[in-house]
Amino acid sequence: MGIRVTVWNEYRHEKSEARVSEIYPKGIHGAIADFLGKDPEITVRTATLDEPEHGLTDEVLDNTDVLIWWGHMAHSEVRDDIVEKVCTKVLKGMGFIALHSAHFSKVFKRLMGTACTLRWREIEESERLWVVEPNHPIADGIGPYIELEHEEMYGERFDIPTPDELVFIGWFKGGDVFRSGCCFKRGYGKVFYFQPGHETFPIYYNEQIQRVITNAVKWSKPTIWLDKIEAPKVEPLEKI
Ligand code: ZN
Repeated sequence: MGIRVTVWNEYRHEKSEARVSEIYPKGIHGAIADFLGKDPEITVRTATLDEPEHGLTDEVLDNTDVLIWWGHMAHSEVRDDIVEKVCTKVLKGMGFIALHSAHFSKVFKRLMGTACTLRWREIEESERLWVVEPNHPIADGIGPYIELEHEEMYGERFDIPTPDELVFIGWFKGGDVFRSGCCFKRGYGKVFYFQPGHETFPIYYNEQIQRVITNAVKWSKPTIWLDKIEAPKVEPLEKI
């Protein structure tokens, strides 16, 4: 069965902007599912905002080890009860990978507990993503850096809690820097935020980016699931 991945995408830019649908004819979720699906350890499905329950029914969530999230223009349309279900699932062990503008998704903000604001501009500048933890499993096979010809600038300060592990720092031609690859543990779940992926650039076809996301899936897969979130009163193991 392998690692069961669900790739969730808002899937709006691809429908409303020709330049985005030209880059991602099957949607951003389709492009990500395509490369993940080639890995023999991974089985992948997709879900999108406009499907019933945003494609995240109990059946889907119960069969998801790692949820990948891309959203931008319609964060506010994501139902709060579904956000609640996703966050609970993360606390129980599900991996969660927030891509690019998912920094402002309800799920990521809720998991961070901070505003998750940042500074940005979109002027087609280049980015160099430096690996700062070369022996981290998410950086496996990447080398010292990833060079992206064009990316939207996301700059500090990024209002997140101090990451448990920082794997990438992005440097932009315009002079800004950003914590571009951040790991967090929330309950039993592992969370990875990865900054590249603006919809008008073919970022998810870059083989190094694909490798990072694939590595992140393997890193964030649950090793143990918590059955129930509870705080039980217990008896002592020894005689008191
Ligand atoms: Zn963007």
